[in-house]
Amino acid sequence: MQPCRICNNSENNTEYLVNEMLFGTREKFKYFKCGKCGCLQIAHMPMDMSHYYPPEYNAFNKKSKYRNKSSLIRNKLRHIWKKAYIDRHMMPNKLLINFLGKPGLPEWIIRTGITTNSRILDIGCGDGSLLFQMREMGFKNLTGVDRYINFENVQYKRIKFFNKDISALSYSAKPAFDLVMLHHSFEHMRGQFETLNHIKNLLSDHGSVVIRIPVVPSFAWRKYGTNWFALDAPRHFFLHTEHSMQLVAEKTGFTIMNRYCDASPQTLWASEQYTKNIPFMDDRSLRFGLDKSIFTKKDLEGFVAKAQELNKSQDGDTACFILKKK
Ligand SMILES: [Zn+2]
Repeated sequence: MQPCRICNNSENNTEYLVNEMLFGTREKFKYFKCGKCGCLQIAHMPMDMSHYYPPEYNAFNKKSKYRNKSSLIRNKLRHIWKKAYIDRHMMPNKLLINFLGKPGLPEWIIRTGITTNSRILDIGCGDGSLLFQMREMGFKNLTGVDRYINFENVQYKRIKFFNKDISALSYSAKPAFDLVMLHHSFEHMRGQFETLNHIKNLLSDHGSVVIRIPVVPSFAWRKYGTNWFALDAPRHFFLHTEHSMQLVAEKTGFTIMNRYCDASPQTLWASEQYTKNIPFMDDRSLRFGLDKSIFTKKDLEGFVAKAQELNKSQDGDTACFILKKK
């Protein structure tokens, strides 16, 4: 049997056949779960993946319709509040935060302790939407790389974008970053060890790496199996366990400082759709609104509550790992 790419074990591996269901081509891909480290991985990585990332793929990353639409002014004020919190080590901000309290911010911003002056690299930045949001929060030094972006090496709204592999970036620029982040991109990468080795060369000595990925075992994997949305065959090559992530980190000179679950309701309702043979990009998918979907508003509330409960009990199907150099 094929050896695990993380721990090299080839005993007691379990095989699965998974359909492409994001676009609904239903092309079949073989996966296997390592009997030792538990990492679930694709058996054969297709040579040319560009075919599986059509232009519509980036649209999939766009914000859901279910976000609150708040006014521009309210948004602006919220960003000022966030910026003050991020730079709360500075005196006037400290007073403001004592008065206003903590704004709603992603946990990884809080836990890494970055400031708006931190040098930040987003690997697999897609259309750059997260970087644009961070720019609004006041972050000044932002860089994004993605092999599948349509824009060439450009600077837009003072954010640098590179349409290249991170290995190429390390040779051309050699900048030191205080935070390197991979939001749902690490699972798409062929070389897990090579990727972290490249990141090590790009990271300042006290810098942090944020890796947000789907994880097993988790409630959604146990419940939905090969219909689990986050398997996303064949784009997701690796679905890590905490143990297999630890092996990759250790072997590349990193320590996992922090881990928490950050699952969203989307993986639950999309998995539910897959069990009923409804692809994510289908007309009937909740992706395009409730009208044609198989769900009611109440179902949707149920998924939101379930995701929150799973994150609390650390059984969510996506997690954030924060790494530092040893
Ligand atoms: Zn293994």
